[in-house]
Amino acid sequence: METLEFQAEARQLLQLMVHSIYSNKDIFLRELISNASDALDKLRLATLQDGLEADTSDLHIEIEADTEARTLTVRDNGIGMTREEVVDLIGTIAKSGTADLLTRLKEATEARDAELIGQFGVGFYSTFMVADKVTLVTRKAGTEGHGTRWESAGEGTYTIDDAPDVPVGTSVTVHLRPKDEEDALFDYADAWKIKEIVKHYSDFISFPIRMGSGDDVETLNSMKALWARPRSEVSDEEYHQFYRHISHDWSDPLEIINMRAEGTFEYEALLFLPSRAPHDLFQRDARRGLQLYVRRVFIMDDSKELIPDYLRFVKGVVDAADLSLNISREILQQDRHIQMIRRRLVKKVLSTIKDLLNNHPEKYATFWREFGRALKEGLLNDPDNQKAILDVSTFSSTEGTEPTTLAAYVERMKEGQEEIYYLTGESRSQVENSPHMEAFQAQGYEVLILTDPVDEIWVEAVPDYDGRKLQSVARGTVDLPKDKEEPEPEGDFGPLLSFLKERLEASVKEVRLSHRLTTSAACLVSDTDDITPTLEKMYRAMGQEGPRVKRILELNPSHPLVGGLRAAYERDADDPALPETAELLYGTALLAEGGDLEDPARFAKLLADRLARTV
Ligand code: ADP
Repeated sequence: METLEFQAEARQLLQLMVHSIYSNKDIFLRELISNASDALDKLRLATLQDGLEADTSDLHIEIEADTEARTLTVRDNGIGMTREEVVDLIGTIAKSGTADLLTRLKEATEARDAELIGQFGVGFYSTFMVADKVTLVTRKAGTEGHGTRWESAGEGTYTIDDAPDVPVGTSVTVHLRPKDEEDALFDYADAWKIKEIVKHYSDFISFPIRMGSGDDVETLNSMKALWARPRSEVSDEEYHQFYRHISHDWSDPLEIINMRAEGTFEYEALLFLPSRAPHDLFQRDARRGLQLYVRRVFIMDDSKELIPDYLRFVKGVVDAADLSLNISREILQQDRHIQMIRRRLVKKVLSTIKDLLNNHPEKYATFWREFGRALKEGLLNDPDNQKAILDVSTFSSTEGTEPTTLAAYVERMKEGQEEIYYLTGESRSQVENSPHMEAFQAQGYEVLILTDPVDEIWVEAVPDYDGRKLQSVARGTVDLPKDKEEPEPEGDFGPLLSFLKERLEASVKEVRLSHRLTTSAACLVSDTDDITPTLEKMYRAMGQEGPRVKRILELNPSHPLVGGLRAAYERDADDPALPETAELLYGTALLAEGGDLEDPARFAKLLADRLARTV
């Protein structure tokens, strides 16, 4: 017998379990049944796909309770584990992002936020909420001889040993803690309690869950595949439990989507829009995809082929009638049927979101807050559905505090306005206060405020909405229809503009007079076809070094600083203060839009020197 230590993260997680963070301890049984069900799926699949020889004629889960000894055993005749697998799978937490998960779990625990805690599926370890000892005995299908026995009191170490005469599969025995502890435990060895939990959490499990002995064996679950039952016959609670089973998310889903296709190619699907984003929504290695079944037989988890990446938050099951049980991931990628299902699912999900937008504004708001950023990736990656995605997207705008659809924006467009105006940036206040906004604000044009990183990119890929061009207010020239004739600027700015262009050659490609400024002296704009500075910064952050893109400096001819500068230049073109003023003007324009100065120390010095002369 060997005594081994739990890996550090596993130890921490166990600590949290032992000092019980969930108020609802019933779920330990759900987790054990869920693992058993997975093990049965895996065994059936291994016989179908890998040619493993094993008896799959009576795959089932058995629960045995002993009220005297206060033990509860969950047994399956599924795939089982080798000794190495037990050490790897039970002694460690191999899941990616565990460290992050632990930190968040601890925070949630300290905040006593039961709902948040519920987001984390903790699986097998949840047994330690009710147990002072857990014994697991297992033998891997296809192996001969002895099995493996694992035991732990949840305190830092576990023992592992060979076990003779073990049938294929896994049995987990939970030694319940004494009843008289302060947080009065239910008697989890009581048959009625077990039945209640199984009915409540695990009714849809597709293998029989049996209890009793001899003639008195009872199957506790109905085993009905939820996706095959008409919506009207399934309660929300049943859907929610199923959702928890497949998603490990404890909050209820926002929306349930049923689909069924008959005819040449049959499939059923049950999809869920979650009500909150998982913590790893934007991590590359996060699990994504749907579960694939073929005629009620589980084939695989995380099937990415069934749903595009930008809809990775969608959870659910697809059960296809006409696929081979042997289908592999490689084949899936090219399968015509799968591609067709995927197209249909996308359409259905988008139309569901549209329905939320039109008929359930509160749900839509939740959806958009949690998943809008991911959905917008589709504007880049799914050109076929670009219009449909734009239709269900909403954006902050200078008009009011509620996000607006593009359709509503277009409705409000002013007489003579041809384009949809937007400005990207890091935050609402940065965008609102950007000098580029001035003329638009002054003349009452609505501007969309786009502050997600993905916004920088999709606006480049989407030329228009319903024939209305999307136009950045920080790009190209603006041609606002004029409310009133602006007076032509007095005097000739030509020589000053040439002088500035020459002085600032390293930073700007052109200097011109502006139509977009009302109060600021200057601003920087991007040329029509150039990439924006934020995008440039993003590329650089990803390690793609490109040439620096120079921008255009625009001056407000009616600003006293600009007028004064012109006068000073006309008085004495060789005035040594002029080049410094040029630099200050450029630096200020950069700061105003939230940009980064190349040499902040130098700028600060120039400014301080100049100020010193005025105090
Ligand atoms: P999760 O189920 O979320 O992966 P668990 O801690 O519950 O996390 O289980 C860890 C792993 O141990 C499982 O992924 C599975 O590979 C293995 N395992 C757990 N229970 C069983 C079982 N009854 N039969 C076979 N393998 C199991």
